[in-house]
Amino acid sequence: MTAAVLCIGTELTRGELADTNGPWLAARLTELGFQVARVEVVPDDEGEIVAALRRLSERASVLVCSGGLGPTTDDLTAAAVARALGVPLVCHEPSLEAIRRRFERAGREMSPSNSKQAELPEGAQALSNAAGTAPGFAAFIGDCRAYFTPGVPRELEHLWEAHIAPRLRSVAVVTSHQVRLRTFGLPESAVGEKLAGLEEQHAGLTLGYRASFPEVEVKVHVSATSQADARQTALVVAEEVRVRLGAAVYGEGGDTFPLAVGRALRSRGWRLAVAESCTGGLVGHLLTRAPASDFFVGGAIVYANSAKTRILGVNEETLRAHGAVSPEVARAMAEGIRRAAEADVALSVTGIAGPTGGTPEKPVGLVHWAVAHPGGTSVTTRVLTGDRGQIQRLAAYVGLSLVREIALEERSSSLLRVATSG
Ligand code: ATP
Ligand code: MG
Repeated sequence: MTAAVLCIGTELTRGELADTNGPWLAARLTELGFQVARVEVVPDDEGEIVAALRRLSERASVLVCSGGLGPTTDDLTAAAVARALGVPLVCHEPSLEAIRRRFERAGREMSPSNSKQAELPEGAQALSNAAGTAPGFAAFIGDCRAYFTPGVPRELEHLWEAHIAPRLRSVAVVTSHQVRLRTFGLPESAVGEKLAGLEEQHAGLTLGYRASFPEVEVKVHVSATSQADARQTALVVAEEVRVRLGAAVYGEGGDTFPLAVGRALRSRGWRLAVAESCTGGLVGHLLTRAPASDFFVGGAIVYANSAKTRILGVNEETLRAHGAVSPEVARAMAEGIRRAAEADVALSVTGIAGPTGGTPEKPVGLVHWAVAHPGGTSVTTRVLTGDRGQIQRLAAYVGLSLVREIALEERSSSLLRVATSG
């Protein structure tokens, strides 16, 4: 089933306001299984709105519109809908009463312009708005189900959840299924190359890629004659994608990389501490973005050599002999924070994020990580590319992936020990 979105507002067409309602509605409609054929923006101009309503209602079975339901003279949506339908605007008494009560509760005087917000096209169905003043409404434009909501994102989201989504769920004919796989460790081009040829092997399959540095999301979208068929194919393809991309796939849907790291740590009953130099706390920030990060103890940002020595007990001689950006110091940092924080496992990061400070021996992008864990300490070295922000972000991700690998490896080798000892 096709759907369309119309965002109404001169602020939008003038570029004074970035449209976020359009993409938000398009994503919600897609989730419900609609094919969104158009997302349009028109100014607060009655003629333009009427023309867009006629055009879009002919193309789509469902139309969702945002904006122009306010009390001011530039809010023309209800009038435009009435004109497109050839009906008058009439006062919707229950909505007027709700607006009156809202003003009473706030202890404010209701102005005549607010009563305008209760005027709806004759025959339209009001959609009560608990998040604001203006009600939304629903109407048929020809065979197209059209829904109108205020432009304020909070109110739009409320009307969507309370009224529009429940109504659309019962009319949507879903014949597609989507699986989102989340990856880290391969550049977007490599992901694309590894999946080359898959689309030709499955009818109705579209692969979508979204890079959000340093991650790449792969969307497996399948359209078929029924949702069950689409789901079946999507699951088969998702499995094939997992095989082709290997360990780079860390999760599905709304999963995040730090959560995947947390799962690996929990599976071992390990608690993690970090010692960060060039990432300046980014690892800790990533780990604490989601609530309930109980696998994370804490750590230290040890930027200056003096902090590495005083807080972590890194030997001054080691610093002098090898420099702060060295495998030796990375090792001492990880072991130091593991001791100080009484953690099971500890990660350290030390490197040259740039843009200055590089030398021929130690170029910008050189990073050392150490992971100190019950089985010993392992040190990893790589030269990363990018600007300072990218190097820091990638350094934090690589560090977390090293922790995750060690937690997962330790688990498989201990399982192996259990399996071979019996
Ligand atoms: P109001 O009662 O506030 O006038 P309204 O239904 O008339 O509501 P608009 O006047 O179109 O809505 O927009 C109100 C505010 O909502 C805008 O100033 C803007 O902050 C936000 N807004 C409107 N449309 C959009 C959009 N497409 N994307 C993001 N924000 C929007
Ligand atoms: Mg307005």
